[in-house]
Amino acid sequence: MTAPLTIAVDGVSGSGKSSVAQAVAAACAMAYLDTGAMYRAITAAVLDARVELTDPDAIARVAARAELQISTDPRDRRVLLAGRRVDDRIRGPEVTAAVSAVSAVREVRELLVQRQRALIADAACGIVVEGRDIGTVVAPQAAVKVFLVADPEVRARRRAAQDDARTGSATAGAVANATVRADLVRRDTADSARAVSPLVAAPDAVTIDTTDLGLDEVVAQVLALADGARR
Ligand code: C5P
Repeated sequence: MTAPLTIAVDGVSGSGKSSVAQAVAAACAMAYLDTGAMYRAITAAVLDARVELTDPDAIARVAARAELQISTDPRDRRVLLAGRRVDDRIRGPEVTAAVSAVSAVREVRELLVQRQRALIADAACGIVVEGRDIGTVVAPQAAVKVFLVADPEVRARRRAAQDDARTGSATAGAVANATVRADLVRRDTADSARAVSPLVAAPDAVTIDTTDLGLDEVVAQVLALADGARR
């Protein structure tokens, strides 16, 4: 019997990772893991504990104690912290502003990478995993690896529209776009520059520039790679 397929979807913020990864998982009846949501949930716990973002030891202690649960169903993006749902909160501005500092702490990464590998091993029907270091660190054995990139302007527009959909407001104007764009660039720079598992494409990843592509076109490319890997 062949091992269940792992599809690694890495890339920069706002490149369409979540939409692509969820659609591919649903199309292939595979599980789905949003590793960014795990870093975001730990960040929420760190903020709740009122720990300084400049204190890696204190951040590591909060992470070690945090009771984190995450769904691997592509239609259910449930994330729980100590039994309470935090899925909306972790995608809000407070957590977004702090997450790069928390995700740069070595102990946080070691803890979450271990959890992520266990969830991948449990996925009997295969799994699509999205993040920043999936093809390089979490699952270097993944049979399919894609790295999504896109023009920062387009990414900012997509992310601002997603934020509007999440909050039910309509702020996706020029000011909101500029703010979101600055945040995306800041996070990409921090994620790429960190010492532990920086954001970088695996040498064997297929880079897809999603700037001028619709979701269906990107999904079709990933499904074709998955088909190739199954043969
Ligand atoms: O994907 P998302 O934007 O939700 O990720 C939030 C943050 O979590 C990223 O900016 C990055 O700092 C961190 N992250 C990471 N490694 C991953 C996934 C996310 O460092 N595999």
